Amino acid sequence: MESSIRNCRTCRKDFVVESDDISFYDKVSVPFPTLCPHCRLIRRMLWRNERAWYKRPCAATGKLVLSMYHSDIPITVYDESYWKTDAWDPFDYGREYDFSRGFFEQFRELWYEVPHPNLFQKSNVRSEYTNHTLDTKNCYLCASATKSEDSAYLFTVIRHMRTCFDGHQSSRCEMCYEIVDSHKCSRSAFIQDCETCSDSMLLYNCRNCTNCFGCVGLRSAQYCIFNVRYSKEDYKAVMDEIYEGGRASLEEAREKFDELKLSVPRKYAAIVNAHNVSGDQIMNARNCRDCFLADDNVEECAYCYRVWNNARDGRDALIAWDGAELFCDVLSVTGQRIFFSAYIWGGSDMEYSYECFDCTNCFGCVGLRSKNYCIFNRPYEKEEYEVLVPRIRETMRARGEYGEFFPSEFSPFAYNETIAQDYFPLKKEEAIAAGYAWRDREPRTYSVTIAASELPDRIQDVSDSILKETIACAHGGTCEDQCATAFRILPEELQFYRSMKLPLPQLCPNCRHYARVRMKTPLHLWHRDCMCEQGNHGHEGRCSVGFETAYAPGRPEIVYCEQCYQKEIV
Ligand SMILES: [Zn+2]
Ligand SMILES: [Zn+2]
Ligand SMILES: [Zn+2]
Ligand SMILES: [Zn+2]
Repeated sequence: MESSIRNCRTCRKDFVVESDDISFYDKVSVPFPTLCPHCRLIRRMLWRNERAWYKRPCAATGKLVLSMYHSDIPITVYDESYWKTDAWDPFDYGREYDFSRGFFEQFRELWYEVPHPNLFQKSNVRSEYTNHTLDTKNCYLCASATKSEDSAYLFTVIRHMRTCFDGHQSSRCEMCYEIVDSHKCSRSAFIQDCETCSDSMLLYNCRNCTNCFGCVGLRSAQYCIFNVRYSKEDYKAVMDEIYEGGRASLEEAREKFDELKLSVPRKYAAIVNAHNVSGDQIMNARNCRDCFLADDNVEECAYCYRVWNNARDGRDALIAWDGAELFCDVLSVTGQRIFFSAYIWGGSDMEYSYECFDCTNCFGCVGLRSKNYCIFNRPYEKEEYEVLVPRIRETMRARGEYGEFFPSEFSPFAYNETIAQDYFPLKKEEAIAAGYAWRDREPRTYSVTIAASELPDRIQDVSDSILKETIACAHGGTCEDQCATAFRILPEELQFYRSMKLPLPQLCPNCRHYARVRMKTPLHLWHRDCMCEQGNHGHEGRCSVGFETAYAPGRPEIVYCEQCYQKEIV
């Protein structure tokens, strides 16, 4: 089948519907997309607020709770523990589909009437200040995290983390700090793209290293500083000096480390044990195109971001896992045959539905649990359902609605409350010009007691009285990072910094989060050629192997193809 060129309805750029996309859309009877992959991803992201929370009373119990919906959003918000009970009935909001009106207009009315949970939390223990969390225990200010404990400030696909502070997209680590895209590491700080490293600091792309400092691209190394091997005694002496020097010596080391990072070649993409894939951060996957962060047996997917654990055969997922199969334009789903839906956990055959758990055969429903054959929150006989749904699809097709995800215009979230702001940051004027809602930061009322610059440089000089201080963020609200302007240190956190011999942070958790996000390459691919000019690789002059990479042309990093990288680094 030939690919097809389309023009995006939103950004007016041309995009390609590839031949395998065409087979997929054919198989599931879905029309071609009218938005390019980039605009489709942003449209889904606009329905996901992970980190902007407000105080709002539960509409049923009156209890003041944290809520991802600002109090001026005219919806009914229930405390999540109440929302989950049978004390209210989502069928009370049921209605007949009106064939004389558009689908989205009617779905919007339903969406704004059915109660929503304040936050997404499931099976957590003492983790009130978290969102999109599952099986977490004693966690504080964490989002998109599962099975993690005794941690704080971990955001974006966090799995099985214990006693970690400040992290982005990492798993199975213990006692780590400022950790990005790393797995199975312990007692380490400021590490990115590392695996099974321990007792180390300032590492980039290292594997199986212990007691290393400021190193890049090392494998199974010990006692190395800036990629140079030291004796155990000499290593310890340098580490003691750094500890004595506190924040200043760490900053000095970081500058040297950043230079080293640019001088060591990197692979065009973090793709491991994968066959026929394009994208970045792909592990154990097959036949995936344009995917980011896919691991654990993912196959036959395209335009997906954050998919794992046997997700297969889908297009356009922002978060799909646990055997999700045959999905198209979805946000946070498991289950089979889920189309144009968000927050569908368990069940199958769901279309245009939102916040439905363990349901099957529902169309245009919101907030159902363990129901089947429902349309607009009304139950039907199977036979009736099977006649009505194709008729609704037909009228939606005629109106150009079928095949589109929920329009961003009726998302309850402003652009800068959603993860779109993390990955495609806009300034207020830009967002408004593009037609997105924007929410100004609420005026902060913290009584700051200490400036970041007044914090002791060395953790050895910090007394327990720091726990009583409200520290002004060094950015002072002047950055574009949704600065919280002030922050406090938790008792567990202080204990952690002491045992890890780390100076106190000078930025608030939001500014720390955005700094980590900026360390990553964007969710975008460019076609480039290998930059290798090594004479002993068998290529004459510069290597001519091409690849799709998230390193944009003109960036300072040295980017190699798989073969050249293997010869140099591993
Ligand atoms: Zn577009
Ligand atoms: Zn800040
Ligand atoms: Zn090469
Ligand atoms: Zn080469």
